[in-house]
Amino acid sequence: MIAEATRGSATIPLRLLIDGRWSAGSGTNITVRSPSTGETIAEGNAASSQQVSQAVEAGARSYPLYRRTALFERAALCHRVAEAMLRRRGELARDLAREQGKPLAEATVEVTVATEMFKDAAEDIKRLSGEVLPSMDSNRRIQVFREPIGVVVVITPWNFPMTIPSEYLSACLAVGNTVVWKPASYTPLSAQHVAECYLDAGVPAGVLNLVMGHGPTIGLDLVSHPAIAGIGLTGSSATGEAVARLAGTRRLLLELGGNGPAIVAEDADLDRAIPRIVRGCFANAGQICDSTERILVHRKLHAALLDGVVEGARQIRLDASLSEGATMGPLNNEETAAKVDKHLDDARSRGARILLGGRRAPDRPTQLYFEPTVLSGVRPDMLLNQEETFGPVAPILTFDTDEEAIEIANAPDSGLVAGVFTRDISRADLYIRSLEAGIVNVNESPTYWEPHTPFGGYAGKRSGLGRLGGKYTIQELSQMKTAVVDVMVQTKG
Ligand code: NDP
Repeated sequence: MIAEATRGSATIPLRLLIDGRWSAGSGTNITVRSPSTGETIAEGNAASSQQVSQAVEAGARSYPLYRRTALFERAALCHRVAEAMLRRRGELARDLAREQGKPLAEATVEVTVATEMFKDAAEDIKRLSGEVLPSMDSNRRIQVFREPIGVVVVITPWNFPMTIPSEYLSACLAVGNTVVWKPASYTPLSAQHVAECYLDAGVPAGVLNLVMGHGPTIGLDLVSHPAIAGIGLTGSSATGEAVARLAGTRRLLLELGGNGPAIVAEDADLDRAIPRIVRGCFANAGQICDSTERILVHRKLHAALLDGVVEGARQIRLDASLSEGATMGPLNNEETAAKVDKHLDDARSRGARILLGGRRAPDRPTQLYFEPTVLSGVRPDMLLNQEETFGPVAPILTFDTDEEAIEIANAPDSGLVAGVFTRDISRADLYIRSLEAGIVNVNESPTYWEPHTPFGGYAGKRSGLGRLGGKYTIQELSQMKTAVVDVMVQTKG
């Protein structure tokens, strides 16, 4: 294991970006500690209520000018932000790995995907077409087109501190909105780096404002500010619902918790299913909204699947984020680790069998290293099935019929993603039609995702509102306008 503290990294000061100027926060202290080593990586102060208002006012002041910036110039800014991030990719990935806890290789992919989002937004905005509708009157022309909405508050979590924000930020930059961004308190350094790249790219002052601080105080100040037009939030269902209650008639885009099942039907190809399920359970130490949270397997395949998943999980190398060869890092924070403990205690006490892991790894620099865990004998009424665990856990449930699998899969109150493995096209169709999830992957784990595709929660569940992904984000964060023009005006004089 490489001790990150020995690499000579000084503590990085955290700052706010308001109206194009960096300043120190005047609120409470924020200290970012490495989940891998416990060392302090960055430190600063949260924004005060007054600074939060100043950030929103800066966004509101810069909006009228920025919305009139030529569309192709906005697209060019998106490309320039991507280029600025790529120029600093090594540093950005390293700091992301240090503050989030994921292995450096995963952090590098994350930075690259974030830059792709800015490039995609640049291309999508150029191709965003409107419509000319027929009129009942031959002298009237009806145009339907899209406009920006105004100041958007963006609130983001710590599990993907660069890609998740970039989904919102790139769309806003392309469409002509200005932004006040509040990143998760565990990962503000990655946010600061993205904001630095905005300045390097020449994005005008006030188009992106960055404020840091505790969600339940600063987040609430932001979402209830009268000058904002929209809110984009990725986080837990409870946070999303608290924000939705305050949002009133503002535009809302919410990406919330998931509890994705991977269903292994009786005719599944296990050679295909097992590696995908293992990756889906343990990538980012299971801290992904579309993680493979539950494995539902037909009783006939249970033993073979179990062996394969245990074997796959044994190959994982749990180590510090900057250690060479690490394939899984520690969990990001104690709340998350405590939730995993609670779900495993519940399963153990009700008869589930732990076949691998099931505990925090001993003798590590922090208590956040959770061993890859595989359980069998999990029942639908256990917390592991009912709630999102958000940790490196593969809980295996069995079923006897497709109808039973669908019932177990749909029982929780979240509905973000699902995966089904089958060789039978009619069975695949049954699952696609019956699963209450925004995305159903066939012969892939629930975790498979491409950034330009529409991603979001199923209506009536607690996984969110609206769709993120490429042109779909642009649609959500812009508004439709209809213009009716009567061309038969009298010529003056
Ligand atoms: P939280 O909901 O705790 O936090 C998310 C963000 O919201 C943070 O910036 C947080 O600030 C802020 N926040 C917290 N409370 C409030 C509030 N009352 N008002 C306004 N803002 C608030 O989620 P986590 O950070 O723990 O992230 C994990 C969750 O996010 C999981 O449930 C996961 O499934 C979900 N998620 C969903 C995704 C999706 O696309 N559907 C993708 C990734 C994650 P602070 O950090 O200061 O608490």
